[in-house]
Amino acid sequence: MSSRIVVVGGGFAGFWAAVAARRVAPAEFDVVMASRQATQQMRPRLYEANPESLQIDLSPILQKIGIEFVPGEATALDHIARKLVLDHKKELEYGRVVVATGSALRRPLLPGADEAYSIDTVAEAISFDKRLAEITRNSGAPTLAVVGAGFTGVELTLELRDRIAHHGAPGAAEHARILPFDAADVVGRELGAGPRPVIEAALAEARVELRLAVSVTALARDSVLLSDGQTISADAVVLTTGMAAAEFARNIPGERDRLGRIVVDRSLRTPASAAIFVAGDAAAVDGGDGHLVLQSCQHALQLGRFAGENAARDLIGVPTIPYVQPPYVTRFDLGRSGAVFTRGWERTVELTGAEAKAVKRRINREIIYPPFDATREELLALSSVEPALQRRPTLKSQRSP
Ligand SMILES: Cc1cc2nc3c(=O)[nH]c(=O)nc-3n(C[C@H](O)[C@H](O)[C@H](O)COP(=O)(O)OP(=O)(O)OC[C@H]3O[C@@H](n4cnc5c(N)ncnc54)[C@H](O)[C@@H]3O)c2cc1C
Repeated sequence: MSSRIVVVGGGFAGFWAAVAARRVAPAEFDVVMASRQATQQMRPRLYEANPESLQIDLSPILQKIGIEFVPGEATALDHIARKLVLDHKKELEYGRVVVATGSALRRPLLPGADEAYSIDTVAEAISFDKRLAEITRNSGAPTLAVVGAGFTGVELTLELRDRIAHHGAPGAAEHARILPFDAADVVGRELGAGPRPVIEAALAEARVELRLAVSVTALARDSVLLSDGQTISADAVVLTTGMAAAEFARNIPGERDRLGRIVVDRSLRTPASAAIFVAGDAAAVDGGDGHLVLQSCQHALQLGRFAGENAARDLIGVPTIPYVQPPYVTRFDLGRSGAVFTRGWERTVELTGAEAKAVKRRINREIIYPPFDATREELLALSSVEPALQRRPTLKSQRSP
């Protein structure tokens, strides 16, 4: 049997899974990260300016703690022979594997959807940013359509005037038409009623032309066709239509939830194959408080630590630990109106304005980043699941929607 732990994916979950596995597994066990590139994309920041700066090279930190990096596209997983296949040819045997392949934009199945812009990956965000620069140069008052007024759509919408100004056209920024659309009859439906008045006020302040309860029936790079028959011309159309588990998850045996995530037990192990653990946006599990985890960084960072810890424990014959998530909070950027910070699943508003913005900035610019300056020992210690175990949330019977 292989004594190798393979972590598939180098995002927030994959990184911490690899570090935690390295901490638990003795030196004779190899810990390997297999991912497309040795860079981590700071996806929560992709609504911001300068998207090209929003990926970081993990190589130095992986070398520091003795994690081998294998580049490639994971294309299959043979759970009987315990082999991961990369690029349809290269095989990596594993004793335990952690699947942390994250999520991807759910592009609507509509004519023209492939032509619209998106901000799901650094490459896609750069492509949109180039278009923004181009239309800023060429138009006195650009029109931008944002399809989807949920978490990502609203954060992007509220950043757009400053993004246009950033490209050197403050006049165009003030005169731009910004049109977010959503099929729901409320903005930010998944965020609940708590922070909604603050979000609505920020959208009004930003002078955006929000259209709710309207479906998009066809799309192109420069237009949106609506269910009421109206065609909206725009200099760019951006899709922020939600996420689902990335395609690789389909290779894993077992049950899926409605987001294509792999349903795992509280050890983050798949019921169908004892050697497979799942973390981050690919995993569907109760966080220990009666709520299914969200596809979010705060969950991915913690799921990764537990999945890596448990994969390594299991390989060396030590009992696994049930996953628990620290209490849920939301930090939502509101552009020029600051931010909103909520606590709990009821999303009770605790901070707004500049104070909340300072918290959001610190999270986006420091907390979610791997700690590059940490020593090897500090880094391994930071992968511990102990703090979460000590702050175990109280159990609730209610589930999140
Ligand atoms: C625009 C945007 C804004 C967001 N804002 C927030 C926010 O404010 N707060 C928040 O908490 N969350 C936010 N999120 C969600 C957050 O980014 C994700 O929840 C988080 O990235 C999940 O981490 P992960 O490690 O599971 O997956 P990812 O970060 O998606 O990483 C997956 C990794 O797997 C690799 N991979 C995937 N498939 C394969 C394959 N077949 N072979 C090899 N490698 C593969 C990828 O290249 C990547 O390295 C946002 C996301 C986006 C796109």
